[in-house]
Formats: sequence, C-alpha cells, structure tokens
Amino acid sequence: MTASLAERSLRSVWHPCTQMKLHEAQPPVAIARAQGPWLYDVEGKRYLDAVSSWWVNLFGHGHPHIKAALADQLEKLDHVMLAGFTHAPVVELSERLAALTGLGHAFYGSDGASATEIALKMSAHFWRNSGRPGKSRFIGLAGGYHGETVGALAVTDIAIFREAYAPLVRLAATVPSPDARGALDGESAADVTRRSAAALEAWLAEHHEETAALIVEPLVQCAAGMAMHDAEYLRLARTLCDRYEVHLVVDEIATGFGRTGTMFAHQQAGIRPDFICLSKGLTGGTLPLSAVLTTDDVYEAFYDDEVARGFLHSHSYTGNPLACRSALATLEIFEQEDVLARNVGLARAMDEALRPLSRHPRVHHARRLGMIWAWDVQTALPQFARRYHQHAMARGLLLRPIGNTVYAMPPYVLDAEAVQHLALGAMTALDATLAEETSAR
Ligand SMILES: *Cc1c(COP(=O)(O)O)cnc(C)c1O
Repeated sequence: MTASLAERSLRSVWHPCTQMKLHEAQPPVAIARAQGPWLYDVEGKRYLDAVSSWWVNLFGHGHPHIKAALADQLEKLDHVMLAGFTHAPVVELSERLAALTGLGHAFYGSDGASATEIALKMSAHFWRNSGRPGKSRFIGLAGGYHGETVGALAVTDIAIFREAYAPLVRLAATVPSPDARGALDGESAADVTRRSAAALEAWLAEHHEETAALIVEPLVQCAAGMAMHDAEYLRLARTLCDRYEVHLVVDEIATGFGRTGTMFAHQQAGIRPDFICLSKGLTGGTLPLSAVLTTDDVYEAFYDDEVARGFLHSHSYTGNPLACRSALATLEIFEQEDVLARNVGLARAMDEALRPLSRHPRVHHARRLGMIWAWDVQTALPQFARRYHQHAMARGLLLRPIGNTVYAMPPYVLDAEAVQHLALGAMTALDATLAEETSAR
C-alpha cells in the first residue's frame, strides 16, 4: 500500500506549534482544496474554517478578485529585490496603508514576528540616533503575544512558547494586562484599565530613561485567549507614552483589517501610535507579508549622510510584488463590498445563532468584539482544548481552543448555512467534550 499524505508528512515535515509525538494518535488532516470558508480534505470531507486558518483569511479561500490580481501580477513581475529597486504594487500598497492609518513610510517583512522585530529595532535605533542610546528596553503586557523569533519572544509573555529559550532572550518588562475579566467585585472594564494604566505609569516613572517602547495588542490579546480590554487603556497608554517619551507600538497583526469592527483596532481609541505592525489578514490570507508603518518623526531620525544611521535591515523577499498585489486586492474588496458595514449584520446573525452556546451553564465570559467570539469553559478536563478540537473536527468544524477558551474568528464570508453549521458544531462539540468528564472520573 502506498503511504498516505499524512504519513509522508509525518516522515518529512516538522509541523509548527506541535509536539510531533501526539500525531501518533491523531495524524494531521491532509487538505486537498479550499473554497470560501470551507476546507476539503483528500477524502472530500469538508471543514468550516472558523479560525480563518490561524487568523489570516478574511474573504474565504480562493476569492476571485485576489486570484485574478495574483494571476495578472504573475504575468508582469514575480519578484525583484527592493533595495535599489521599486515597483508598482509596493508603492501603491504603501500609499494606501498610509492613507488608511495616517502613518507613512511602510517597511516590509515576511511574517508577523519579523514585523515585531522591525518595530523594536527601529524604536531603539531611533533613540540611539537621537542621542539617547540608553533607551533600549521594551515593555509588554502580561499575556502578550508578538511572535516567536528570539527578539519577538522578548515581548511575548506566554510561558510555553518562551520557557525553553529563556537564556537566549533579553526579556522585556511586563506590566499588568487590562483584560476586562480581571475586574474585581463591583469594578467595570474601565476600572480595570485605570488600575492597569496606574501600574504602567509607576513602571514608566521609574524606568523611562532606559525604555524605548511599549508594545500592545490593541483591544484583544488574541493568543492569551481572546482577552479583551476597554479602548480607554490605549488612550491612557498613549498619554503616558507621550509624557515619558516612550514609543507606542500597536501590534495589529491579528486585530487589523476589520477583525475588531473597525479597520484597525487602535482607531476605536482615537489614538495615533508611533508604529503599527501588520501581517496575517494583510494579503487576505494568501501569501506571507508584513509591514511596519511609522511616523515622519521616526523616519527623519534615520535620514542622514551617514549610512550607519539608516535602518540597515532586510529580508530577501522584502516587498514581494505578488504579496503586495494580494494585499492591494484585499484592500479593494474592503472598499468595493463595504465589508465593515456588512460584518455588523453578519455578527448580529452569528450572535443570534450562538446564543445557546453563550448561555451554556458551563460557559463564562461569553464575549465578542467585531468578528471575534470567545467563551471560557469551566472544566477540569485535562487536554480540554485538544479534545474539543477533535469533537469539532468530527462535526466538520475547525475550532482550536486556547486552554479552556473556545473562540471563533471566521472569514467574513459566512452564509446562513455556514453560520448555522458553526453554531451547531460549536455547541454539540462542547457537550460531547464535557461528556468525557464523567468517563474520565
Ligand atoms: C500571529 C501574531 C504574531 C506573529 O505573526 P507570525 O506571522 O506568526 O510570525 C505577532 N503578533 C500577534 C498579535 C499575532 O497574533
């Protein structure tokens, strides 16, 4: 018998974020094709991609507009190095991102972690160029996630991703998260933000001379388990960063491109960050691309006769034309289809369908922001996340809880059938998983 794709994969591919030995019991699912929000495995079984393939897919798989743009670009220019050269897709994308955010000077990387690295390096180098080389440390929030390369791990406060590499990492300082679930009796989400901001202020008052930047995931700390906070925190953080001369980096890698209801999450706070990191949805989930946008002030601090004062950072595929063209097509879909307005209606239909899950007696902190839903499940079942994932997959639904938090982050193209499929699958998978508690006892 010939080996299956899954078997060959286990022999040749080292899968991400995976203890490979677990695949002895549960082989990876071999996907043959995808259309809209649906993935089809090699046997033809379909799965609703309710996590947007790790938060990257916005308009479903194989969107005709993105496909056409890519095919056209492939005819013209596949790739050229961006040092000493330029091309239409990267120029147009940079102009559009500047118009959308008010921050120009787009610097490109290939994935989210490299965007984090770029923003941190730029911030520290800015202070060095400004005659303040001592400002070279960073602050992040408890539970923050900004990627897993060695530099990005410095500001990623998730133990399982970091522990083994602690000796390699120059750890950033961690201040309390404004996670609204941290409210004490009688406290509102805004009270939690004020308490967290007070802790940030105390830290800055003492350490601002050695601090380059604060990095935050605006409104939702996704990898922490969709921890949501009040927009007021971003306003307070902005004020404190101004007062203590520390850059504010907003990592919109997961929250950007309509995920939280606005084009970018920080816009709900009405603030202007010093750096914005973008990736994931940037290309609609088709190709790897990331960008860091920054202010004229930062840009000008590098503009000099001396080469070494420039930002001497690069990746081989910086500004890849195909990826930039996918990003342009993605932004065009936002405009042509009035996506943000349409998502308000879709979210309402989802809320309605998901009401039984949100009211499930074992669910706490049912919450939603924009197109992100999350439910904390009260269970002592070991491996709840893995078991839930299995039960959901058996129902043709791709959901991957984080710890005991079940969440949905679907593409923005669910029809009524897909909404029902998601809601019913999420609910029945929960009951099936919780039923294992009794047998585990
Ligand atoms: C996913 C993510 C990253 C890292 O992006 P990669 O492309 O996986 O390197 C960084 N920050 C946030 C907020 C993310 O969600």
